Amino acid sequence: MNILVINCGSSSLKYQLIDMTKEEVLAKGLVERIGIEGSILTQKVEGRDKYVIEQKMADHKDAIKLVLEALVDKENGVLKSMDEISAVGHRVVHGGEKYSSSVLINDEVMKYLEECVKLAPLHNPPNIIGIEACKALMPNTPMAVVFDTAFHQTMPESSYLYALPYELYKEHNIRKYGFHGTSHKYVSAKVAEVIGKDLSELKIVTCHLGNGSSLTAIKNGKSIDTSMGFTPLEGVAMGTRSGDLDPAVVTFIMEELGYTVEQTNELLNKKSGVFGISGVSSDFRDIETAAENGNARAQLALEIFRYRVKKYIGSYAAAMGGLDVVVFTAGVGENDPFTREACCKGLEFLGIEIDTAKNNVRGKIAEISKENSRVKVFVIPTDEEMMIAKDTLELVRK
Ligand code: AMP
Repeated sequence: MNILVINCGSSSLKYQLIDMTKEEVLAKGLVERIGIEGSILTQKVEGRDKYVIEQKMADHKDAIKLVLEALVDKENGVLKSMDEISAVGHRVVHGGEKYSSSVLINDEVMKYLEECVKLAPLHNPPNIIGIEACKALMPNTPMAVVFDTAFHQTMPESSYLYALPYELYKEHNIRKYGFHGTSHKYVSAKVAEVIGKDLSELKIVTCHLGNGSSLTAIKNGKSIDTSMGFTPLEGVAMGTRSGDLDPAVVTFIMEELGYTVEQTNELLNKKSGVFGISGVSSDFRDIETAAENGNARAQLALEIFRYRVKKYIGSYAAAMGGLDVVVFTAGVGENDPFTREACCKGLEFLGIEIDTAKNNVRGKIAEISKENSRVKVFVIPTDEEMMIAKDTLELVRK
């Protein structure tokens, strides 16, 4: 059974075709510059040269049409016909409060996705456009949506409510939703499998550290708190996002510096984080190189990032009343031993002890804590596409 996983951005689209009988990726690809001059599709199949199509793509429908053509292409494809795609799984960023798990697409779901646009005005519209385009091209293929927010719907009110007038929650849905749910769910399930324990008996902190970063406290398999909030801006400092700050800074910037809403949004989302502090880059590799070469602001950016991750790990141990496992995942979490070690340094009192030699690992499943460390620390590469495919398969089978 082949599942096509689609993740639509505003001008890009990522896809993977996964054979679920073997849980094997048959093809993966990226379409860039949709609706802009220079549209390009790049498809990769294990053991073959890249297949590149440079062709005008006016919209997401054009892009998805080309994806399907690339998958069935006689020379470069992996399928004989589109009929070999049993179902499509779509990643959708915001599922609001209604969905605490993935769902099959129907008219009611589509209507609700539209309602969620106000909660994620940048992310949900391209997701919806991608679904509509797919539905038009594959009207008889079942499709599911997998939400970034769904996994966090188990958070108690005491975690997800902001201390604002309660009406703002009731009337305007202002609350913490949390994101990266598919990733946190995948790596927590995987680490339980690796250590041979049931999720229901574990207290886990998952650290998804990439360009966007979030941490989640997972108690007995359920998200009880997470660092991203109403939007993906809350939490630790990120590539270009500020993370937590005193909300009075925002009104100060607007009043005293005369920033408009748009400029303020741009400042907090695109010009802050490790990029804003270092002035070097949002890419951790560039910042680390600059820091090694003595750039003090780059060093400071890394220090701030790591300090905040550490604080969240500590606070989530407190929230769960203990800690059994810490998991690092995503670009930085999987590939950056220095950051992992620095985030855990000083947490020995909680029972976290990193083994520097074992920690010298990149991009693969590994235990990186000392043998006698009370808390186990793991690197678990995330696989959001596989998680989306699994959820989709489960829904289709039901
Ligand atoms: P993601 O958003 O999960 O794709 O992660 C992207 C981030 O991972 C970028 O900031 C990269 O610099 C970072 N990253 C990837 N490889 C490494 C590495 N070897 N060392 C440090 N950071 C890395």
